[in-house]
Amino acid sequence: MLENLTDRLSRVVKTMRGQARLTESNTAEMLREIRLALLEADVALPVVKSLLEQIKFKALGEDVVGSLSPGQALVGVVQRELAQVMRGDAAQSGELNLATQPPAVILMAGLQGAGKTTSVGKLAKFLQEKKKKKVLTVSCDVYRPAAIEQLEMVTKQVGAEFFPSNVNQKPNEIAAAALDWARRHYFDVLLVDTAGRLGIDTALMEEIQALHASLHPIETLFVVDAMLGQDAVNTAKAFHEALPLTGVILTKLDGDSRGGAALSVRQITGVPLKFIGVAEKMDGLEAFDAERMASRILG
Ligand code: GDP
Repeated sequence: MLENLTDRLSRVVKTMRGQARLTESNTAEMLREIRLALLEADVALPVVKSLLEQIKFKALGEDVVGSLSPGQALVGVVQRELAQVMRGDAAQSGELNLATQPPAVILMAGLQGAGKTTSVGKLAKFLQEKKKKKVLTVSCDVYRPAAIEQLEMVTKQVGAEFFPSNVNQKPNEIAAAALDWARRHYFDVLLVDTAGRLGIDTALMEEIQALHASLHPIETLFVVDAMLGQDAVNTAKAFHEALPLTGVILTKLDGDSRGGAALSVRQITGVPLKFIGVAEKMDGLEAFDAERMASRILG
C-alpha cells in the first residue's frame, strides 16, 4: 500500500529517510501531513484529533532501524491504527445475524438517496444465493410511490418475493401485514425498506422508531453514502441515538470518495461496518474489509 500513498505522505516518507527512530521532532511534520490526509479523506475533525493522539502515543520510540525508514514505519502505525478502529468483531463483516425464530426481520435506516432500496436488492440476492434463504421484501415508504415501485423492480430482478404496499397505508400496518405474510408463508428473512428524508427529521425518526418497536428486527442496518463526507457523522449520530443500530452499509465506494466516512461512523457510533456498496448493480455488495479501507483512506 505504501506506493499508493497520497503525494503529501510519500513526500514526507522520503524526507524522513536515513533516520533510525521516530522522535517527537521527526514525527511532528509527518503527523501534520497525516492530519491533512485524513481531513482530505473526509474523516470528521474530532475523529482525526483523537486518532492522532493515539497514533502519536504508539509511534514514539518505535524502533525502526533496519527494514523500513521511519516515515514508512509511521505510516504503518497509522494504517494499523485506522484498521483497528474500523475492525469490528471479524465475524460481523460481510455477515448478517439471522439467529432467531424465522422470519428474521432486517430493518433499513438512512437518508433518502443513501442507497437503502438498492441495498435491499443486493442483500436479498446475497441471502438467497449465498445463504440459501427465502426472502421477502416490503417498502414502508408511504411518501414516494416511486420508491415502492423501485423496490418491486429490484426484488424481481434478484428473484426474491415482494410484498405490495401503497401510499394510502400506514407504515406500521404495512409492516405488520408483511410480517404476518412472511410467517404464514415460511420466509426466512423479511427485508424492510423505509422512507428517508433529505435531512434529519423528527417525524421520520419517530416513524422508524415505531417500526422498530413493532417489528423487533434482529438487524437494524444504517445505510450511508460514502460521498456524504463530513456530514456522515451527524447523520450517523442522529440514527444511532434514535435506534439500536446493529450494522452499517457504506454505499457508493465505487465513486471517488476516499471513504473517511467509514472511520468517522465507526468511531462515533461503535456500530460494526458490515458491507460496502461498490456498484449500482445488484452484485455490487462486498464484505467490509478494515485493512483495505485503511489503505484507501491514506492512499
Ligand atoms: P434510497 O433512497 O436510500 O433507497 O436510495 P436508492 O437505493 O434509491 O439509491 C439512490 C441512488 O444511488 C440510486 O441511483 C442508486 O442506483 C445509487 N446507488 C446505491 N448504491 C450505490 C452504490 O453502491 N454505488 C453506486 N454507484 N450507486 C449506488
